[in-house]
Amino acid sequence: MTDSQPLVTVRNLKKHFPLGQGPIDKLLHREALAVRAVDGVDFDIYPGETLGLAGESGSGKTTTGRLVLRLLEPTDGTILFDGQDITHLPESQLRPLRRRMQPIFQDPTASLNPRMTIGQAIAHGLRIHGLAQNADEERTQVLDILAKVGLTPPEQFINKYPHQLSGGQRQRAVIARALVLRPDLVVADEPIAMADVSVRAVLLKLMRDLQKEFGLTYLFITHDLATAKYICDRIAIMYLGKIVEIGPLPQVYGNPRHPYTEALLAAVPVPDPEARREQPLPKGEIPSPIHPPSGCRFHPRCPLAQDICRTQTPELHPIEGEPEHFVACHLR
Ligand code: SF4
Repeated sequence: MTDSQPLVTVRNLKKHFPLGQGPIDKLLHREALAVRAVDGVDFDIYPGETLGLAGESGSGKTTTGRLVLRLLEPTDGTILFDGQDITHLPESQLRPLRRRMQPIFQDPTASLNPRMTIGQAIAHGLRIHGLAQNADEERTQVLDILAKVGLTPPEQFINKYPHQLSGGQRQRAVIARALVLRPDLVVADEPIAMADVSVRAVLLKLMRDLQKEFGLTYLFITHDLATAKYICDRIAIMYLGKIVEIGPLPQVYGNPRHPYTEALLAAVPVPDPEARREQPLPKGEIPSPIHPPSGCRFHPRCPLAQDICRTQTPELHPIEGEPEHFVACHLR
């Protein structure tokens, strides 16, 4: 991975959502409160790879995805896309880049306009980005991408409305709408979470096949480490706005170094009843991102916590013998 230039580079990225200041806070000159959804994350995404972003709800993974897509304005830090600094690029200058970075969200029903046929929804993007010269060319491209995502025969699906499709078919249509624009990067946020269990594996396989065919780079956001295992090349584990472990998937899953990663992996159900049992996640709720714990943010839930963990924030450092595998823990 590291011998090519990253497609995406993120450094010290932060997103704080201000909560405003009450009159008493103002009177007492108290600092305004903010939800620190993302609080200083660093990662690269290399061309053609799938980087997973995993963690419990409230870890900041969705906000990170939206920042990379520049659907949100970062509070601090830097985002480079294909070498260009897009951190604070105004919308007018972002527009030509939008085609190259496409989102796929969790809920395909909310993503599709109920009054547009699938064909119209897909063609809309082609028109906005000037990718078809005329109506014939537009129709050819729409039929072609419908076939590629498995909505066949495409002549039947092009005129259907979203409510006439199953959940799995709707998500295929959303994938088609993104891929018809020939993006470089796809940010997929829990793309199979709302699909029927029976079609999840099929959708994941489709995404993997399309990645190869189109040379796509994925940022794949999920709370489910079993899903991540199927599709990711590398994975970053997020906890309360920070990355606590990142590395190639076989290393992170085979040799997890952060106690939180260990707990998440232990909670993954396994089909063999003789094998490892499903474990509960670490004790306690994920703390508030308004007042994150001092030192290591995981310390109130960590079975290994020591005094240093309560006062000093651990930085990501490489693991001995695994130079691409990083962990943020004082003891590892
Ligand atoms: Fe646990 Fe301390 Fe490591 Fe944090 S730094 S994960 S509290 S051992």
